[in-house]
Amino acid sequence: MRILVFNAGSSSLKFGVYDMGAAESLCLKGSFDRFRDGSCELKLTVGGARHDAVLPCADLAAAIAAVPGLMAAHGVSGVDAVGHRIAHGGPGFAAPARLDGPTMAEIEALTPLAPLHNPANLAAIRLAMQVWPEVPQVGVFDTSFHLSAPGFATTYAVPEAWRAAGLRRFGFHGTSHKYVALRAAEVIGQPPERLQIVSCHLGNGASVCAINRGRSMDSSMGLTPLEGLVMGTRSGDVDPGIFGFLSRRLGLGVAEVEAALYNDSGLKGLTGSPDMRDAEDRAAAGDTAAQLAIEIYAYRARKYIGAYAAAMGGMDALVFTGGIGENSASMRRRICDGLEFMGVTLDRDRNMRVDLADRAAPELQAWGGRVRVIVTETQEQLQIAREVAVSLRAAAPVRLSLPVAVSARHVHLSPAHVQALFGGPLTAEFDLRQPGNFAAHQRVRIEGPKGGFDNVRVLGPARGRTQVEVSRTDTFALGIEAPVRQSGDLDGTPVVRLVGPAGAVETDGLIIAARHIHMHPDDAARWRVQDRQEVEVRVSGTGRDMTFSDVTIRIQPGAFTEMHIDTDEANAAGVYGAAEGALIAGD
Ligand code: AMP
Repeated sequence: MRILVFNAGSSSLKFGVYDMGAAESLCLKGSFDRFRDGSCELKLTVGGARHDAVLPCADLAAAIAAVPGLMAAHGVSGVDAVGHRIAHGGPGFAAPARLDGPTMAEIEALTPLAPLHNPANLAAIRLAMQVWPEVPQVGVFDTSFHLSAPGFATTYAVPEAWRAAGLRRFGFHGTSHKYVALRAAEVIGQPPERLQIVSCHLGNGASVCAINRGRSMDSSMGLTPLEGLVMGTRSGDVDPGIFGFLSRRLGLGVAEVEAALYNDSGLKGLTGSPDMRDAEDRAAAGDTAAQLAIEIYAYRARKYIGAYAAAMGGMDALVFTGGIGENSASMRRRICDGLEFMGVTLDRDRNMRVDLADRAAPELQAWGGRVRVIVTETQEQLQIAREVAVSLRAAAPVRLSLPVAVSARHVHLSPAHVQALFGGPLTAEFDLRQPGNFAAHQRVRIEGPKGGFDNVRVLGPARGRTQVEVSRTDTFALGIEAPVRQSGDLDGTPVVRLVGPAGAVETDGLIIAARHIHMHPDDAARWRVQDRQEVEVRVSGTGRDMTFSDVTIRIQPGAFTEMHIDTDEANAAGVYGAAEGALIAGD
């Protein structure tokens, strides 16, 4: 499948053509910028060779119209889909979307939240639709990756009426953060679900993202791409009180302040130039304004890295990308210096000798450094091509039905804890549908600092490590915050107290079980899904029909194929007892 990708900015257009078969390969990529006096500069890479040129393209429309000719000149013909980067997708676009009239209207309505970006993205879409009218056009949203962030990270503490009007944090650069996190996980040799990564996209726009076990947990950008780090022309974090202050002191209106925060702040506001290279050169020559700008830039980034390591309760890797993250050894060094206390130690020689050709992602930590420090070139276009390909393959979904069962709170115990709590082995009261598993006669009390639950069911047989599965509602009754985890993924989980007739134990392993499907290998083969694949399941006929996303398939020999949800999920979907779900294969 051949995908053409456009990433349109306000004054430039990047593009790439990728073949997305069993292997991914780049056919060509390039960018148009410096539009002036009826021409523009083209930077084009084909098979590793550069073919830069000045083209007679006066504007974005002419540049897009020139792409088929450029492709043909280099022997690349025909595309199966066009993918577009879209900055703001609001709360509604959690996945790539086919671009048609209603979708475009929704994106247009989000323009006030990304005034520099969404209009440029829409212009490119409209032009591409004219050049490739027969080909599906798919939008991939910078915000989608962050929609997994928890409510406590996305909610501003503002009046309810404002929140009801849609005021919340989103986060941007999602495609870039996702790509570099996947690349870092590849380099580390562990699945992203096992890693806590802080990713720093430091380009003209800049953001930090906390990627907790493969999902965005928090990002420094908020409702708009203004919040967070110091950027080329954007301020990043400011006190919202500046609106009142500037109104009273300088008589500035909201629109003026907002425009200046977008266009005349950041490095530009501090030094006169939005370009980090200028700031670094001037600082080296003794310009004190540039020196201060660099210090503010690094300090703000370091604060976010520390905050996100704390938010996730750890950090396995710190990743740098974007024009500054990739190219400025001195900025990487400034940001990392001072983070040694949390295991970030930079190898200064490696930091100076970074070569990012061919998707390289070198590690820069000193020998024995606990946190991997990785730098890699972001490949937003490639990631967009991947997502477009997946969305087109899933466009004709296979719908299959399966039983949905509700898991009430329960406990799995290690042999040592069985002994400590009951003084003897578990005994089966009745068998469960998953072969070899049973509900035991034995019950325990679960206790937290706020309260507890009596008579909690123990499931047998005993297993390697104790696991206590509760709903999110239960965590408030216990007074302990618990993560959503797959069964068995227990490192770093909170401690809870279990009380049995023969004694009590304090144990980690408290989780909210991530929804999942136990699946027999024969069903998996028939339905063409793989172990750990995430799918959607639509539960209907309950009176509160709903679709569950991110349902993980767990293929086990002899399994009884069945989806498990917890009591909160069951209540939300009106599932009382058993229900049927329709499986829609996803990504
Ligand atoms: P991007 O938006 O990712 O293209 O990044 C643009 C930013 O990267 C600009 O602020 C550039 O000044 C900065 N940049 C590019 N190369 C270098 C370099 N060698 N040293 C410092 N900053 C750089």
